[in-house]
Amino acid sequence: MSVPHPVITIDGPAASGKSSIARLVAQRLGFTYVNTGNMYRAMTWAVLQAGVDPQDAEAVRAAAAGIGIESPVVEGKTQVCVSGRTLTDAELNSDPVNRAVSFIARVAEVRERLVADQRALGSIGPLVMEGRDIGSVVFPDSPHKIYVDASAEVRASRRSAQGLADQVAERDRLDKERKTSPLVIPEGAVVIDNSHITLDQAVEQVIAALKL
Ligand code: C5P
Repeated sequence: MSVPHPVITIDGPAASGKSSIARLVAQRLGFTYVNTGNMYRAMTWAVLQAGVDPQDAEAVRAAAAGIGIESPVVEGKTQVCVSGRTLTDAELNSDPVNRAVSFIARVAEVRERLVADQRALGSIGPLVMEGRDIGSVVFPDSPHKIYVDASAEVRASRRSAQGLADQVAERDRLDKERKTSPLVIPEGAVVIDNSHITLDQAVEQVIAALKL
């Protein structure tokens, strides 16, 4: 799959700090920032609004087929809209969405659609795209792959410091064990351990690792 612009892929487990790092790397380089977790979160929000049980894969498949998700670029980053309505950070990061998102994200048909949308964004210009399968599945040929890790303790405490009751360990288990596009360290990725370094240091390490 050939892509006309560079795509920096940043993958890693929940609360590893990859979103903050990806956003700053994108700002430094003047690239568009794409948070693909928000696309899965938007789909989850819409499925929950429809009153569907997130663990009922058949019902999720049927509901998802009728849900329109768009990712317009606003001020250098993608937003997520469901049926034309832009979702807020509070909606995307609510407790019910946190609890349900990994069940929605393991449905193969949901992934196929969102992966196609993510690849299509590759034509708009240079990107920093973060998620779980960006270097392994969405843009496997990118020469610019990063994997951000952090210890389980550090990740859990980061989430609770943000005031979010996020079941980080359970989401990671589901994301790593699912059949379709599980969370893995992509082949060729530079691994950054973000447990005990500052955000600035992490951004510097990413920039230093890139061969742009
Ligand atoms: O990145 P964030 O923690 O917001 O992602 C929320 C969830 O979306 C993840 O736990 C995972 O289940 C799903 N996800 C995914 N593939 C991606 C990005 C996110 O499966 N590329």
